[in-house]
Amino acid sequence: MATLIERFTGAKRVVIKIGSALLVDGETGQLRKSWLTALVKDIAVMRRRGQEVLIVSSGSIAMGRSVLGLKPGTLRLEESQAAAATGQVLLAHAYQEILGLEDLTIAQILLTLSDTEERRRYLNARSTLSTLLSLNAIPVINENDTVATSEIRYGDNDRLAARVAQMIGADCLILLSDIDGLYEADPTHTPEARFLPEVNELSEDIMAMAGGVQTAVGSGGMVTKLKAAQIAMAAGCNMFIANGTIERPLKAISEDNARFTCFTAKDTPRNARKKWIAASLSSQGQLVVDTGAEKALQVGKSLLPAGVSDVHGEFERGDLVILVNQQGRELGRGLSAYSASDALRIIGHKSSEIAEILGYSGRDEMIHRDELALN
Ligand code: GLU
Repeated sequence: MATLIERFTGAKRVVIKIGSALLVDGETGQLRKSWLTALVKDIAVMRRRGQEVLIVSSGSIAMGRSVLGLKPGTLRLEESQAAAATGQVLLAHAYQEILGLEDLTIAQILLTLSDTEERRRYLNARSTLSTLLSLNAIPVINENDTVATSEIRYGDNDRLAARVAQMIGADCLILLSDIDGLYEADPTHTPEARFLPEVNELSEDIMAMAGGVQTAVGSGGMVTKLKAAQIAMAAGCNMFIANGTIERPLKAISEDNARFTCFTAKDTPRNARKKWIAASLSSQGQLVVDTGAEKALQVGKSLLPAGVSDVHGEFERGDLVILVNQQGRELGRGLSAYSASDALRIIGHKSSEIAEILGYSGRDEMIHRDELALN
């Protein structure tokens, strides 16, 4: 069993969420450059350990508002969108400059809610992110605040970060905040409140502990952090809440006397995904698998177009389909990399022929083994 610290240091893919309160000085609206420079040293250490890193950063509104001369206090929606538009440029520039000091390349991704909730947009966002990771870039992600209106917003980057972690199968999510973790009661009012280093079940009692703990500058309190934990844990991702107000907070998490709350996931991201696929009820179609492919599936291979003999039903790329063998027995279910109409055109063909038949180069597999749950 991995120790809590190893759940961070041994993770393969880590999402780090940085709150506005850490990045931006609440009074001057200036970037806290020396803090970020120190944090980037920790990120460089992680990269040298072989870990993939994604950053979800808040701070665009906090940075942009002072530049535009907006008054302190609550902003109107269009004012915060204007502030985000100005602040995001400054934020991206700061990340580029400071990560550049460690020879790290950044890539900016601005997401809206539909990018993680709508299947096709989700698949596109996911493949862009994994391509960036495979090219050793560090995605720096924020909500696309300038176009998101209140009904279609995540609203807080805690949940956005958890959705990103779920989308790309991260095994660790770290929420750096101005609070060091979860207490049984709000420590500002109840100084003797007990601190919880580990949470492995989000019981009602735990959810109730979050009530009302707010941070100063950002929009996420403890409630949104626990909602993020729900998403992350269900996706097989361990989540840490740690105090980011200190210098080098990631280094601090990896040290013996580290203080944080770790929400431990029971599954790996891969198993959590397979369970989710296995439990999905509605399927739009069926793929009939030939005998050779049936054998290949049993030994853990992906399903290739060459091994599919027929396609039934109407489905889109990314939809859930049922796999049946030549006798019509259900073998399992999985997410199809092709729509029903494209699938019909490529079945029985080699993967190398897909581009020529369809006029675009899609995935080699009809269903990748990670997206497959056999009975
Ligand atoms: N997306 C917002 C920003 O960059 C922050 C949301 C949050 O604080 O969680 O300013």
